[in-house]
Amino acid sequence: MAAPAANMTINADRLWDSLMEMAKIGPGVAGGNNRQTLTDADGEGRALFQRWCEEAGCTMGLDTMGNMFARREGTDPDALPVYVGSHLDTQPTGGKYDGVLGVLGGLELIRTLNDLDIKTKHPIVVTNWTNEEGTRFAPAMLSSGVFAGVHEQDWAYAREDAEGKSFGDELVRIGWKGDEEVGARKMHAFFELHIEQGPILEAEGVDVGVVTHGQGLSWTQVTVTGKDAHTGSTPMPMRKNAGLAMARILEKVEEIALSHAPHAVGAAGHIDVYPNSRNVIPGKAVFTVDFRSPELAVIRDMEARLKAAAEEICTHMGLEVDFEKVGGFDPVDFDEGCVAAIRNAAERLGYSHRNIISGAGHDACWINRVAPTAMVMCPCVDGLSHNEAEEISKDWAKAGADVLFHAVVETAEIVE
Ligand SMILES: [Zn+2]
Repeated sequence: MAAPAANMTINADRLWDSLMEMAKIGPGVAGGNNRQTLTDADGEGRALFQRWCEEAGCTMGLDTMGNMFARREGTDPDALPVYVGSHLDTQPTGGKYDGVLGVLGGLELIRTLNDLDIKTKHPIVVTNWTNEEGTRFAPAMLSSGVFAGVHEQDWAYAREDAEGKSFGDELVRIGWKGDEEVGARKMHAFFELHIEQGPILEAEGVDVGVVTHGQGLSWTQVTVTGKDAHTGSTPMPMRKNAGLAMARILEKVEEIALSHAPHAVGAAGHIDVYPNSRNVIPGKAVFTVDFRSPELAVIRDMEARLKAAAEEICTHMGLEVDFEKVGGFDPVDFDEGCVAAIRNAAERLGYSHRNIISGAGHDACWINRVAPTAMVMCPCVDGLSHNEAEEISKDWAKAGADVLFHAVVETAEIVE
């Protein structure tokens, strides 16, 4: 028997208690968390995770990007490990489950294997990827990206936060820079459990989402330059209003995304107008357009149409416009075998499930480039995430973690 029996499940109370314990570190102001990457709170959360892993009999590895790898040995010394995990860092006003559920769900499956005295052929490694959120140091999924060869490590070290502190210095400062070469590890497979961060599973009353694809993402920073001028004394025809041009461009963003419904989305979540004064016509507007789709051709089309529309609007208004691609990744097709392992696990355990596309970026999207990868999602209340009010139920956490447990352990092959 390579897979766990259908009656083998994780301990939901223990998983929940660990989630609540971790949430005490870096508390937010409204019941959630502010445990941003490479802060003292991040260091504290890491230390707690390491202690729990060691108490569960694992040995901890640490690479030069601060990625943590808690290993439970397998019976075959030549077998590549099955990896499982997500991230412990949060948004500044983040929730208790985004990322954390995937890491502690991995720990819970190790604890369950210990309880049941189950051995696996392949080792199992629980991972905490550094700086998934990308709020303090852009971009998101920075360290899984370096691991997968998407970014250079030196470039990652040079990323700076709003205070001008670098990622590399802060990693050393909190004491979590390891010696192990990043990306040197080879994986048999990688699995990530994550909350949906969208409303579909809850609305449909489905226990788990089997993630087949990850949406691609494109961030274009647009800078519109006009002329600062007095809002009272400048005649309307003589204005070079960058704020107005931005508003017109944002209408186009909506139109372009809607033209590729239902899977494509677009918005500008970051907007700055200058000088941002009540009685000054904005002479400059800087904003970032976020387009996403599971199809690369659609993303390329949306980028091209944004540029054409913005140029037309700005030329017509006598303004200048510049574009800078500040982030992005291509759509992801997860590994069919790993996806099947997730789906089979849900079937075996009797959980309702449906295929789903991940609308957010995840570490699994980068790791998919270097290892067979899949994700399982559980619902979250009102689809709310990146918000302190983010909430899930213990039953939802259990369903997701049970499916993770079965998929990982089946892939790691139970030894009789
Ligand atoms: Zn996350």
